[in-house]
Amino acid sequence: MVEEEVGFGMLFAGLLTFGLLLLIVFLIFKMFDTIYLSLFKRPAWVHFYLFKKKLSKEQKVILRNNSSFYSRLSSVGKERFEHRLQCFLNDKEFISRQDFVIDEEKKVLISATAVMLTFGMRKYMLPILEKIIVYPKEFYSTIDERYHKGEFNPRLKALVFSWKDFEEGFRVEDDNLNLGIHEFTHAIHLNSIKRSDTASVVFSDGFSELLRLLRNEDLVEGIKKSGFIRDYAFTNEFEFLAVVVENFIESPKEFKSQFPSLYKKIQQMFNFRFAGY
Ligand SMILES: [Zn+2]
Repeated sequence: MVEEEVGFGMLFAGLLTFGLLLLIVFLIFKMFDTIYLSLFKRPAWVHFYLFKKKLSKEQKVILRNNSSFYSRLSSVGKERFEHRLQCFLNDKEFISRQDFVIDEEKKVLISATAVMLTFGMRKYMLPILEKIIVYPKEFYSTIDERYHKGEFNPRLKALVFSWKDFEEGFRVEDDNLNLGIHEFTHAIHLNSIKRSDTASVVFSDGFSELLRLLRNEDLVEGIKKSGFIRDYAFTNEFEFLAVVVENFIESPKEFKSQFPSLYKKIQQMFNFRFAGY
C-alpha cells in the first residue's frame, strides 16, 4: 500500500516537472518570437506543418501550367505551396452563380492567388473568409446597387468574383490589373484588422507605417504624376492598398526602382521575400 502511494507520488511529481518544463520552453519560444518580431518586423519562422498535404496529379498539372509564381519557387517552396493550397481548398466553400461550372482548374487558380499573397505569412487561412462565390461575368451587387467585377462581402464572409475578369487578371501578368490579387488583398487587410496573430500584427503595423509614409506629399504627387499606379488607388486607403499590391505583384522591378520606400513597405506587410521579390 505504502509502496503504491510512493510510486504514484513519484509519477505525479515526474509529470508535473515535465509539464513545467514544457511550459518554460513554450514561454521562452514565445518570448523569442515576440522579440524577433519587434526587432525585425517579420516572423521568426513562417512554414510549419506536421503532416504534409499533397495535391492530386491533376491539381499539380494545373498549377505547373498556370502559375508562374509557383514555377519560380525552389523545390522546398513548391512543397510548401502545395501543402497550403490543399489546406485552403479544403477549407473554403466554392459556390457558383447563374449556372456557372466551377471546375478544379478554377478552384486551383483562385486558391493559388490567395496562397501566393499569404506565402510569407505564418497564418494564411483567412478565417474571415469562408465562401468564394463565382459568377460567369460582372454581377449586380446589392451593396451599392451597381455591377461589380469582384467584391469582398464581410457579412457573408465571402469573396465574390466575375470569372471572366478574374481569369483576364490571372492570364495577363504585366498590366497591373489583377482582380484576384485586388480582392484577396481586401480580405487579408480586413482579416488583419480582426485578428491578432503574428501575420496580422505585421500586416497592420506595416499598414500604419504605409499611411505615415503617404503623408509625404511629394511622394504622393510623384505617384500620381507617374501614371504607374492607376487613379482608382486614390479612392480611399483600402483601395490604395489593393491597387498598389496589384502593381507590386505584377511589376516588382519597375515598382522597386520608381518607389523604393513604398515597395519596401508592401514587402514588409506581406513578408514577401521570395520568388525574385
Ligand atoms: Zn477594391
